[in-house]
Amino acid sequence: MAETQTSEVLIVGGGVIGLSIARALKKRGAGTITVVDRSTPGREASYAAAGMLAPQAEADSPDAFFRFCRESNRMYSRFAEELLDETGVDIELDDEGTLFLAFGEDDLLELSRRYEWQSGAGMRVEHLTAADTHKLEPFVSPDSLGSLFFPDDRQVENRALIKALLEFACRNGIGIVPDTEVRSVSETDVAAEAQCADGRRFEAGTLVVAAGSWTSEIEGAEPETGIPEIRPVRGQMIAFESAKRFFRKVIYSHRGYIVPRKFGRILAGSTTEDAGFEDRTTEEGIETIRENAVEISPGLANLKIAEKWSGLRPYSAAEHPFIGKVPERERTFAAVGHYRNGILLAPLTAEILSMKILDGAESEFLKIFGDGPAKAEAA
Ligand SMILES: Cc1cc2nc3c(=O)[nH]c(=O)nc-3n(C[C@H](O)[C@H](O)[C@H](O)COP(=O)(O)OP(=O)(O)OC[C@H]3O[C@@H](n4cnc5c(N)ncnc54)[C@H](O)[C@@H]3O)c2cc1C
Repeated sequence: MAETQTSEVLIVGGGVIGLSIARALKKRGAGTITVVDRSTPGREASYAAAGMLAPQAEADSPDAFFRFCRESNRMYSRFAEELLDETGVDIELDDEGTLFLAFGEDDLLELSRRYEWQSGAGMRVEHLTAADTHKLEPFVSPDSLGSLFFPDDRQVENRALIKALLEFACRNGIGIVPDTEVRSVSETDVAAEAQCADGRRFEAGTLVVAAGSWTSEIEGAEPETGIPEIRPVRGQMIAFESAKRFFRKVIYSHRGYIVPRKFGRILAGSTTEDAGFEDRTTEEGIETIRENAVEISPGLANLKIAEKWSGLRPYSAAEHPFIGKVPERERTFAAVGHYRNGILLAPLTAEILSMKILDGAESEFLKIFGDGPAKAEAA
């Protein structure tokens, strides 16, 4: 007879979302927690990401999703401090802010529009001339016509974040089960269950689906259940190595971005591709990213590409993440579809879902993102 493992909470998927939820549940007093992952936990989209926490640089309007992003960004200072305290791992939260460069009249118009609504809504944003932009970042292209500066947007080293969350799990008795693919999830009157490809069964009082791009592949988590369809959207990335840190801020153009890490590493991204589950880099993708990075700073043409990689962003057909209880289930929850913002949204997703699971607490955002697009649009 196949082996059955029992815990209080079972989390399917050990990316930044599943691991953050495991930590939040543990800190709120949950008992046994098991996280099952089909490969190495934290090695999919959450590892591939650029780690930008950039609600303002990426927003077109002050909708509910924007408020959700800003609120999660605010939580990061405490999140980083607590993780350092709990695990000894520094997730390198960097408060230098973000610049968005303009290279043509259309870009300038777009930045003006963004400046108007964000400053009108009381947010910190500065419109900089070309000269002021170069004072702040001397290595940006002389062709840039000016920029917006978002002092409250920031970045984090997402690979360190994964390391910290796994260390938290290890120190706090959260069971991590790698290389175990869940094929189906279901419920009986008394428990939730996950059936694995290798024949093992996991049983729990509560089950959370946090399987990123693969969510809709799991029987019992398909769109018919009320969880929106989740599709993979490939993003390729490169990293340049340089001897020192030439840039202080994350720098965007309308075509790409660069993210300066500590000690001279510079990430550049990214592509947005429908390539199914084919998670690999292509010559064309890498060259496009390199060209867009060189547009931001021509000096990057002289640096070697030290690493290239790709990841699958979990795109939700509802165009918003789904976070909450699965309709018509008693014990099954999901936190999926964070698409381009899962690193940014991890702390708030984990907080609201853990409060819902343990205390039945509702939140404004659970009401909006818990049952799909209709509510998100109405917000
Ligand atoms: C190139 C790129 C750049 C990005 N940049 C940023 C950024 O700057 N800022 C930002 O906030 N976000 C960014 N993102 C988005 C962010 O990475 C994702 O939104 C986030 O990582 C999603 O986390 P997740 O835990 O849902 O998914 P994942 O990290 O993909 O984790 C899902 C996990 O579930 C496991 N799994 C799947 N199916 C099963 C199954 N059947 N059984 C068991 N386990 C399963 C997988 O193995 C995986 O480990 C970027 C993404 C990419 C690809």
